[in-house]
Amino acid sequence: MDKKVIPYGRQHIDQNDIDAVVETLAADFLTQGPKVVEFENKFANYLGAKYAVAVSNATAGLHIAVMALGLKPGERVITTPITFAASANCIRYVGGEVWFADIDPETYLLSLESTRKLIESKPAGFFKGIIPVDFAGLPVNLEDFRELADKHNLWLIEDACHAPGGYFTDSKDEKQMCGNGNFADIGVFSFHPVKHIACGEGGMVTTNSEKLYNNLSKLRTHGITKENMSENHGGWYYEMQELGYNYRLTDIQSALGITQLLKNSKGVSRRNELANNYKKAFKGKIKYQSLPNGMYNAHHLFVIEIEDRKALYNYLRENNIFAQIHYIPVHTLPYYKEIGYGSADLSQAENYYSKCISLPMYPSLSDEEQEYVIDTTLSFL
Ligand SMILES: *Cc1c(COP(=O)(O)O)cnc(C)c1O
Repeated sequence: MDKKVIPYGRQHIDQNDIDAVVETLAADFLTQGPKVVEFENKFANYLGAKYAVAVSNATAGLHIAVMALGLKPGERVITTPITFAASANCIRYVGGEVWFADIDPETYLLSLESTRKLIESKPAGFFKGIIPVDFAGLPVNLEDFRELADKHNLWLIEDACHAPGGYFTDSKDEKQMCGNGNFADIGVFSFHPVKHIACGEGGMVTTNSEKLYNNLSKLRTHGITKENMSENHGGWYYEMQELGYNYRLTDIQSALGITQLLKNSKGVSRRNELANNYKKAFKGKIKYQSLPNGMYNAHHLFVIEIEDRKALYNYLRENNIFAQIHYIPVHTLPYYKEIGYGSADLSQAENYYSKCISLPMYPSLSDEEQEYVIDTTLSFL
């Protein structure tokens, strides 16, 4: 078959990305140089967050996020079952317990009500934090989650890996960019090529708290800091204050991140254009992720629900359309099944998983290609 395969997502690299990387290769620093700081500043500016810490990938970012918030072995954190495993794994890295609450059947996001019920079914202090995910690029209403978290003295990490450029509108009618740190303590982004901004591997951790920023920066580099260096010390002096990691992003990757970031707003508008085309074609025929008022979906994914999902998946493949499933519910993965921590009733997540399929969604998907995807999907019906 010589027909081009249409994947569910792909990166978009152009000549100015290539030039930026090549320039950095010939510069003084391959890592820990000026490009990292520039990328952090530009990314924080883009969101309107105070601080950003570039990391080697979002999984590493989630790991140092729970560490910076002081999560200890045996402590419990709530997250959504409809996410990539990394949103939960970070809790396990420090020996914490992962508890799941159910999703909303229309938005596919962690349900505020299910989370509230789970928290209120336990004694005070039972949970330490919540990790909601801006699934598919749809922002979680973090104002509501913050209120719930504050009531029960919990921290909040926003897994915004799907959502750079997405925003929700708060009760004061203000636009709140995903990961801006106004409601969640920490936001985490991924720069894996299938996400909006491609660095090869890469991630960003954002916060508005100076204290968390200092913790995150230390943990990214072995737990080492020069903050206590005084006149009596030599210039080489540093302290390792705790056990950290090498989770740094390189200058080469940051150079790519900077040029990719510049294209993000345009990419997200194109993604929304594509989403609107899908919706127009499917309205009344196929269920798709709903868009609550005041939300701007960054559309990492375009998810539909269909009864005979497996048959559609195979049919699309036969026609060179490589749709994907997001996600196998985390609590059903063998590792988590075996541990068997408690959870809410997760029937909405399981029902969603039996029907969900993600159609191609990326800025360079052409109108013709999308029409072909739409026609093929409708012809399956
Ligand atoms: C991709 C992804 C991650 C992990 O990102 P990496 O950069 O690959 O480590 C975490 N959470 C979600 C929701 C993701 O989609």
